[in-house]
Amino acid sequence: MTELRGSSGDASHHVLTRWFGTPDLHRLETYASKAGGYTALRKAMLDMAPADITNEVKTSGLRGRGGAGFATGIKWSFINRDAPGPKYVVVNADESEPGTAKDRYILENSPHMVVEGILIAAYAVGANQAWVYIRGEYDRPYQMLTEAIEEARAKGYIGPKPFGKDYPLDIRLYRGHGAYICGEETALLESLEGKRAQPRSRPPFPAVKGAWGRPTLLNNVETLATVPAILNMGGAEYAKLGTAKSPGTRLLTVSGNVRKPGVYEVELGKTFRHVIMELAGGPPEGRKVKVFWPGGSSAPVLPESMLDTTTDMEALAAARSMGGSGGVIVMDDTHCVVKAAHRLLKFYAYESCGKCTPCRVGGDWAVRTYERILAGQGSQVELDILQRVSDGLQNGRCLCGLGDSAGWVIDGTLRHFREEYEDHALRHECNVGKVAAHA
Ligand code: SF4
Repeated sequence: MTELRGSSGDASHHVLTRWFGTPDLHRLETYASKAGGYTALRKAMLDMAPADITNEVKTSGLRGRGGAGFATGIKWSFINRDAPGPKYVVVNADESEPGTAKDRYILENSPHMVVEGILIAAYAVGANQAWVYIRGEYDRPYQMLTEAIEEARAKGYIGPKPFGKDYPLDIRLYRGHGAYICGEETALLESLEGKRAQPRSRPPFPAVKGAWGRPTLLNNVETLATVPAILNMGGAEYAKLGTAKSPGTRLLTVSGNVRKPGVYEVELGKTFRHVIMELAGGPPEGRKVKVFWPGGSSAPVLPESMLDTTTDMEALAAARSMGGSGGVIVMDDTHCVVKAAHRLLKFYAYESCGKCTPCRVGGDWAVRTYERILAGQGSQVELDILQRVSDGLQNGRCLCGLGDSAGWVIDGTLRHFREEYEDHALRHECNVGKVAAHA
């Protein structure tokens, strides 16, 4: 497993990565003594009512860092804390979106920050048991999180009476087995329950009927890792960072054709030009950025001319894309957009769980259409088919977001690189170097 480069940029705005680089930060003793670790949990359990914790998170304006960007505090408030019977917190650590490795970065650098965030969330929503669903390939993060949980257990933060309070807390880990669909929250719950991982129809939503039919809060690693900092600095102070509707900072994983790929903590509202050209060093010498995915492969692409788009969710929505998982994938001018779209469609078709028809059939249909185009057998008919398949995959026609994502790959690349598609389909040549596509 490769080492991930550390964050850089304006360190005064670092919330999550502020203490990264401190030797032995992954150990409880260092996390507590150097980074103020577990003071937020202590404060939450001894000095705050559960509703006040949720309100503090609401005040911060924190939005989920997993993909959809739903308001975290509001999501917490959907759980009826006083309902009888068990409730659960389930942590989505199944980070498998192409181009995304920021949860791994957090887990490897500061696993106790995640443990602390989970315990605070569990207490706030009335859960005694939390589950972390962690990507099966994440050996090192799994080991580090396991050790952190055991240290927290030995210290009494996990156990029957954390801080002497009669409120048992427990965290258990569950390792995934490599299916992309398990990043979808209801498919993750099915997998956690030992069933085939396919998304559920909603409603009911997990807040009402989640793991084992019980009210369940689902958050991703980065979202929960941010919570201790919010309680320590105060929700209002956190909300001063970023933009009015997308407050705070987030971790962006920058990969592809840049000189300094890595994970960078960025205050929301900074431009992608800043992220790609300054933090990540821009493309290799002599090359130009051609296209970038601003939020993992599921986010519609943006061309180089839109590098000044800002990283907040509203700006990305206005640009007809999204922040998604925070995976910024950069491709330079030596690459063909049509070939890249074909490669991604193969991925989405392969990972389709097959539960709903548009995704099960549409993905394969799109792949075969791309193959005809790339074999020099394309025509206007193939371009029309791609547009129709893309339309059929989007706007609620599929049961989960995987179908939309496949559609957005086609839609985004067609919208911004129509000429490149026409080069392939109509003139049977590749835009990159104008080489005959079937030569
Ligand atoms: Fe399964 Fe695709 Fe339908 Fe999602 S959109 S439920 S992955 S078939």
